Formats: sequence, C-alpha cells, structure tokens
Amino acid sequence: MSTTYRLGVLEGDGIGPEIVPSAVEIATAAAHATGTTIDWVTLPLGATAIESHGTPVPHETGTVLADLDGWYLGPHDSVSYPEPHKSALNPSGTLRKHFGLFANIRPAKSCPGAKAVCENADLVIVRENTEGFYADRNTYAGTGEFSPVEGVAIAMGIITRAATERVARVAFELARSRRKKLTIVHKANVLKLTTGLFRTVCQEVAQEYPDVAVDDFHIDAMTVHLVRRAQDFDVIVTENMFGDILSDLAGEISGSLGTAPSINASADRAMAQASHGSAPDIAGQNIANPVAMILSGAMLFEWLGAKHGDAALAATAKIIEAGVAQTIASGTSTRDLGGSASTTEFTAAVVKAIEGGAGRG
Ligand code: ATP
Repeated sequence: MSTTYRLGVLEGDGIGPEIVPSAVEIATAAAHATGTTIDWVTLPLGATAIESHGTPVPHETGTVLADLDGWYLGPHDSVSYPEPHKSALNPSGTLRKHFGLFANIRPAKSCPGAKAVCENADLVIVRENTEGFYADRNTYAGTGEFSPVEGVAIAMGIITRAATERVARVAFELARSRRKKLTIVHKANVLKLTTGLFRTVCQEVAQEYPDVAVDDFHIDAMTVHLVRRAQDFDVIVTENMFGDILSDLAGEISGSLGTAPSINASADRAMAQASHGSAPDIAGQNIANPVAMILSGAMLFEWLGAKHGDAALAATAKIIEAGVAQTIASGTSTRDLGGSASTTEFTAAVVKAIEGGAGRG
C-alpha cells in the first residue's frame, strides 16, 4: 500500500500564482504514474496573506507546515510590501530560519534543446543558508542591519565553524555521489577572518573525503571561471550571499534563471523554491517559465524518496525531470529559452509527455 505524502503549496507573489500551480499539476501527473498519493495543502503567504491575515507569513502557515512532509514555496516580492513588512525578514528567510533549513542546494544544468551560454554545464551550488553576509539572517531578532547616524548604515557578517561544517558535509556527500569534485568559494584575501574561517573549515572537512578532489577560488575570480568554463565544475560550496549571486549567474549561463531549481534543507525537512525571484516585470502575462519551480519540486521528491527509502518518490522525481527534458527537446519552451509557449501551454505539454510515458522504460 502506498503512503500518502502531505505537501504544502505557498504560491507567493509575482509569477508565483502562475508557476506554482504549473509545478503542482505536473507533480500530480508524475505521482499518478508511480502510484504515489499526494495530499496538497494550500496555505497563505505573501502579499495576499498581508491582506487576509495582516502578515506575509501567518502563524497558521508555520504551524501547518511543521506537520507536513515538505512544501513548494513560490517567490515573494517583499520589496513591494507595505511597512513594517517591507523592512522585516522576508518570507523565505523567515521560513528558512524558523525551520533551520541550513543548506540551499541549487543545481545548474543545461537542457538539451535550449539555448544557453554554456550548453554542457552540470554543477550544483551548495549555499550556506543561515549566516554569512546577509544581515537579516544573522540575528535572533530584527534584521541585523542598523543605521547609527544619518548617512551611515552597518550590517554584520557572521561565519561559524558549526554552520560551515554542517554545510560542507552536505556538499562533500553530494560531490561523492556525483563527479567527486568540490570547489570552495570565499574571499579569504580580504575577509580573512570570516570567509577565511569558511575556507579553513571546508578544507578540514575535506580530510574526511579523500576521494573528492578539492580546489578553491575567490568569489570575484569564480564569476570569471563560471562564465568561461562552467562545464568544469561539479559541486561548489560557499557562504550565503556569494551563493545567492553565484547561483543566479550559474542558472543564467546554463539556460535561463527560469530553469534554475533549488531546495532548502535541514537534516529532516525540505522546501522546494525556484532560485529566481517573483519577476514582477512579467507577472500575470502567462509567459513565465515554470521549469525552475517544476524541477525544484522534483528535487523535493528525490530528497523525500531518500529520506523515506521510497523508490516511488525517486521515480516520481525522474518522471518530472524527463517530462520537462522531453518537452524542451521536442521544441516547446517559453520565450526566455527562445520558444513561444505560454506558461499554461508549456505545462500542458509536460503533462502530455508524462501521460505519454516520459521517464519510464
Ligand atoms: P530576488 O531578489 O527576489 O531573487 P531578483 O531581483 O533576482 O529577485 P528576479 O525576479 O529573479 O529578480 O528576475 C530577474 C530577471 O529574470 C527578470 O527580468 C525576470 O523577468 C527574469 N525571470 C526570473 N524568473 C523568471 C522565470 N521563471 N521565467 C522567465 N523570466 C524570469
């Protein structure tokens, strides 16, 4: 008898109400193909939650999420929220902090058939998610930024041995399951104490993984290496802000930001979240690329499959990935990838590919 998994659906803002339903529709078709039962639980988050509950992350959303197996988080447009929400920790930061989701795993893989700066990239960025130079995630309360006098603003950066060690282990385990190469990205020539500690601790953890080849680069040099030779990299581990910037770059050069998925994970929880933002410039036009959100969902299914030892979940992930790959390879894609399909047309094509047997046999 198959287990029923309960997954949260938080649409968010901007293109969220377009790409999240697309990802849910496709996951439902793939789960149906493997006999997996998903109970989808829709919860309020973002601008609509401010209207209905007076806050972008209502208390009930956090309480219900705590009892679910995982969830899909759409993007949020927190810079457009009214105060005090605009200056507060944003919704994804709030959920990452509340649930201790310390590792943000962001693959960048070129899709055959889609135009890309680098057509054979296949790398994963493991971004430390809880500290570093994003002030708003460093503090117990408040945003961690302050302005002591007019014209002066201060933000803190924090690197700890404990947080670096745990994210380094996630990255090395991942490298071990892939091409056994790991690159540490830092700025230890300038931020000697903080990112120097990050590099040192990653190098210490490397001693436990003699089968993984390790190198390291400064963040600025790394942007050049990625543009020139993204195909040479396998797993990249870095602190919070460098990982955020580098993963947008990696996503774009391997196709489009619209294809870059991610999950945020702790040892026992995971949240699927596209690497891109809410793209307000194209919201409501049915032209957004849902692939990043769809593939983030596949990552969540794979993670849950490993957690529960459930092969049907891993198979569901493979079917979602195959449905997307087959659809793009056959010439259907959204305009950011050089195609002309709308979000809903692309979604329907992926569902059709899955119903036609993509990812099986
Ligand atoms: P955030 O800081 O919230 O991550 P951002 O400022 O990085 O957001 P995005 O919202 O990610 O910006 O948008 C950057 C650009 O990429 C925009 O031009 C947007 O239209 C485009 N873009 C982002 N996501 C998609 C998508 N899914 N499909 C097509 N274009 C996208």
